[in-house]
Amino acid sequence: MKLSFRDRSFRAATWCRALLVVLPAVFVRAEGQEKAAWHGRKCAVALTYDDGLNVHLDSVIPALDSLGFKGTFYLSGFFPGFSRRVKDWISVAKEGHELGNHTLFHPCEGRSPGREWVKPDYDLNVYTMRRMVDEIQMANTLLEAVDGKTVRTFAYPCGDRLAGDSSYVDRVRELFPGARGVEGKMEGLKEVDLYNVGAYMVSGQSGERLIGLVKEAMAKNVLLVFLFHGVGGEHSLNVSSCDHRKLLGFLKANEEEIWVAPLVDIVRFVREERNGHGLQEPPGGK
Ligand SMILES: [Zn+2]
Repeated sequence: MKLSFRDRSFRAATWCRALLVVLPAVFVRAEGQEKAAWHGRKCAVALTYDDGLNVHLDSVIPALDSLGFKGTFYLSGFFPGFSRRVKDWISVAKEGHELGNHTLFHPCEGRSPGREWVKPDYDLNVYTMRRMVDEIQMANTLLEAVDGKTVRTFAYPCGDRLAGDSSYVDRVRELFPGARGVEGKMEGLKEVDLYNVGAYMVSGQSGERLIGLVKEAMAKNVLLVFLFHGVGGEHSLNVSSCDHRKLLGFLKANEEEIWVAPLVDIVRFVREERNGHGLQEPPGGK
């Protein structure tokens, strides 16, 4: 069929109008998918607290509970804030907070400058792989006795990943769906390294600075993990209670756009989005 110029013009105009209708819809959909990347929100935020401090039980958890937020608490069995207050941690777990594995004795690499505080017996340089894995597994048994759970995330003590001179990351991979590191990085859904999840160490930053990180995560549609130790004291790595509260206030005020959840829930979500398995498939394929 031969089309006249007029017919061709008419068809072109019709196509053009159709595209004008369809294209914005495509762009809106793409933008909507971006914004909905994290459980229908712009970004995900995990609030993680290390080393089982008393202040976590006495101040942080009441603050989180008052706003309906759930955090992740990385516990080492021998820290007094855990060993002397096991009943309190049982209550915390019942409220839905994650109790994360941070080993039994918190071994770290002790030969680097600034690591003079590492006790020789708990220096990772003298650990065998067997000893490290035994310790991590027994910490899982201990935590299961507290919260009844068999799935949780791990945090590398001091961010170190060598036992002796060998990486223990592959063993962590067999035991956990994900593990938090200490590198200050934000990653998108597709980029998150589940066995070295980035985290921003909080030490002395203002509430405004912490909120700035959240705004950056919202703009980039990424996962942001905060790594707290002391909150209002009890640790040399510390943030004031006031600045911590400011951060929580911002998260609450923007909760329709920010998904705040324990890291284990976020890891589950990432796995589901990537392969549809979530945590149904046990870590390590066992
Ligand atoms: Zn620690």
